[in-house]
Amino acid sequence: MEYDFRMMEKKWQKLWESERLFETPNDSDKPKYYVLVMFPYPSGSLHVGHVKNYVMGDVVARYKRMRGFNVLHPFGYDAFGLPAENAAIEHGIHPGIWTRKNIDTIRKQIKRLGISYDWSREIATCDEEYYKWTQWIFLKLYEKGLAYKKKGAVNWCPRCKTVLANEQVKDGKCERCGTPVTIRYLDQWYFKITDYAERLLRDLDKLVGWPEHVKTMQRNWIGKSEGAEVVFKIDGSDESLRVFTTRPDTLWGVTFMALAPESPLIEMLTKPERKKDVEEFLNRMSQTDRHKRTALEAEKEGVFTGSYAVNPVNGEKVPIYVANYILMEYGTGAIMGVPAHDQRDFEFAKKYGIPIRVVVDNPENPLNPDEMDCPYEGPGILRNSGEFDGMNSEEAIPKIIEFLEKKGYGKGSTQYKLRDWLISRQRYWGAPIPIVYCERCGTVPVPEDELPVILPKDVKFEPTGRSPLMSHEEFKKTRCPICGGPATREVDTMDTFVDSSWYYLRYVNPHDDDKPFDPDDVNRWLPVDQYIGGVEHAVLHLLYSRFVTKVLHDLGYLDFEEPFENLFTQGMIYKDGAKMSKSKGNTVSPDDMVEKYGADTLRMYILFMGPPEKDAEWSDQGIEGVHRFIRKLWNCYSIMMDEIKSVNTPDESVVNGEAEENLRRMLHTTIKKVTEDIEGDFHFNTAISRMMELTNELWKYLNTTKKKDWNLKLLRAIAEKFLLIISPFTPHLAEELWRMLGKDGFIMNERWPSHVEEYITMKEVEIAIQINGKVRSRIKVPVDAEEDEVLKLALEDQRVRKYVKNEPKRVHFVKGKLLNIVVNNAG
Ligand SMILES: [Zn+2]
Ligand SMILES: [Zn+2]
Repeated sequence: MEYDFRMMEKKWQKLWESERLFETPNDSDKPKYYVLVMFPYPSGSLHVGHVKNYVMGDVVARYKRMRGFNVLHPFGYDAFGLPAENAAIEHGIHPGIWTRKNIDTIRKQIKRLGISYDWSREIATCDEEYYKWTQWIFLKLYEKGLAYKKKGAVNWCPRCKTVLANEQVKDGKCERCGTPVTIRYLDQWYFKITDYAERLLRDLDKLVGWPEHVKTMQRNWIGKSEGAEVVFKIDGSDESLRVFTTRPDTLWGVTFMALAPESPLIEMLTKPERKKDVEEFLNRMSQTDRHKRTALEAEKEGVFTGSYAVNPVNGEKVPIYVANYILMEYGTGAIMGVPAHDQRDFEFAKKYGIPIRVVVDNPENPLNPDEMDCPYEGPGILRNSGEFDGMNSEEAIPKIIEFLEKKGYGKGSTQYKLRDWLISRQRYWGAPIPIVYCERCGTVPVPEDELPVILPKDVKFEPTGRSPLMSHEEFKKTRCPICGGPATREVDTMDTFVDSSWYYLRYVNPHDDDKPFDPDDVNRWLPVDQYIGGVEHAVLHLLYSRFVTKVLHDLGYLDFEEPFENLFTQGMIYKDGAKMSKSKGNTVSPDDMVEKYGADTLRMYILFMGPPEKDAEWSDQGIEGVHRFIRKLWNCYSIMMDEIKSVNTPDESVVNGEAEENLRRMLHTTIKKVTEDIEGDFHFNTAISRMMELTNELWKYLNTTKKKDWNLKLLRAIAEKFLLIISPFTPHLAEELWRMLGKDGFIMNERWPSHVEEYITMKEVEIAIQINGKVRSRIKVPVDAEEDEVLKLALEDQRVRKYVKNEPKRVHFVKGKLLNIVVNNAG
């Protein structure tokens, strides 16, 4: 029997496809299980790092089918957006053609791995039949007042020449290309995700199947803070400034106020004699990058407006500045400056000689304002704070809020760091925003029955900073759906994260032309039981999807409020110590590995590399080793095939001697372990280790026991059960050997075996424990227990412990018979 994996893998892939074994009906008597992997950007071909989560998902899908579930396991492509568009520009080819080509390549790559996707449900977000419904979702949000257009400061990537959502800016740089982001003032479309801030935060507690670190990232991104909004009157005017503070207990320590350079109040507050200085400062700020300006380590600077505000709690007049470290987007664009208790205010006050007044004392180490070289930011005991003196911060804060509310100085308030989701893009390769502008009727949504608004193909799409669709007259010019008069279309396209915020719903009815999904089907299949993908989407895709699901739930389309019940974030595959990337030239192609070792080897190696949540280093020796194991397994079957082929009564109940008993125990502990690893935390690596040990044990038995003494019924039972449990990992080899054993059907349609506890329990023997040569106790230990284990068990024994107070000097062990412990003072 030759292990001809090339022939074998092709053969089974063809059979699975022609028998349509991966296709899943929506209607079934079986319980449902929806396993989903994050779909790829088709911006090139896949490397082995990309396929890790597909292989993981496939093991889970195949396992769940064998456990009797109706398994939805779909695949698609996040095909719109910058990655595809940039790659297309680089290659001088239309993004549509480029994307199609890559989709064909990726599909072929995945089919060669034997991944059990229901290909009849394949979707690509750039297809009209898909983005029609992305536009429909936009309209639903618009109807509910959750999509709106406004002018504001937006993040701009000078290289991608488009705006970016806050979530797409990482450390001041473009998430896609790494270029430092600048600020522009533009009219843009937003989704009002802030309306859902509290629910998005609160419902994280319900997601017990999500990793803690992902939930923490979302909590921090939403950034809830509780405190007070306080009103400061402007001295000599009816106007006032509102500020938000999380520390109302420091209100008596306010010695200045500061505004963001973008604040519309500056003009009104600037006194004529300060005008020149203020204008000079604002000019300089407008040329400074906002991310640099507000960085923690940036020098704090500002300019005095000439106006004063009145602190409502003590009537003190404090100067109003404009300062570089204040952002218009957060809070109200104005702050109260408390230099004794805030680092940035402290640096600012030092520079401009503003008084520093301690109002919250450090209980451990009383503060002296004249000698402070840093502020005290912690809670403490209030002083210089009127009637609140002597209270600690925790008890003072609610009382001060109550006091503010009673006096009409302000109120308790909650703020979130989360901003609305900016969804317009000045790029070509995306779903057009379904809006038209009419001179008479204003902003008008495209009626549902006119969807999709088709993205034209003949567009000059090189990025110029202006939306490419703007120069496509035929697209732009339209008629108003209300009055029929001339109108123009919105020329921005939607952020690709809108496409991916709902794709998991479309897999349920991917080709339904009348609706995005069938209500019964979608509520039956969703939420997704197991989602697998990269942690880089923690605050982007995963937050947006939760938002869109909640909106559709509130509109009555969905019964559930959270889309993903369980989430697994897999680690990356590194090569030569670095993340795989084409530019570094350290990628490994799955096609090459499949050609050289076969899909089964590649699948198993990827899962064997370590705990799947951790990053792992690719090793050529590693995949060699796994390939040798698979060949050894094949050879075991090869050696016994003729003998066991015709045995049609597998039977494990009778074993003769220790070797057979061991073999049977090993099989059942392996079944148990593999089951637990798949059901548990996906530690496929330890499951595979067990299967390797079982293979070694089988190899040993077949090569040390004379053929005439083989327990054929036992071997037949082992041969069948081993194939069943290895089949999700190496499905091709399993199908091939299953057929060779004379089975008619496909192993993927068989039921998962269960272990027999009785076969796992090891036999015990009683052995004598001697202390300095005298028998002091007898204990029961597993038959094959070694010295370490027996010593450990002996030291747990009361009678032995009486004699052994210190570290034993020496031990003498005779397996299965006795253990002699030599000690200095044997009681
Ligand atoms: Zn960029
Ligand atoms: Zn009109």
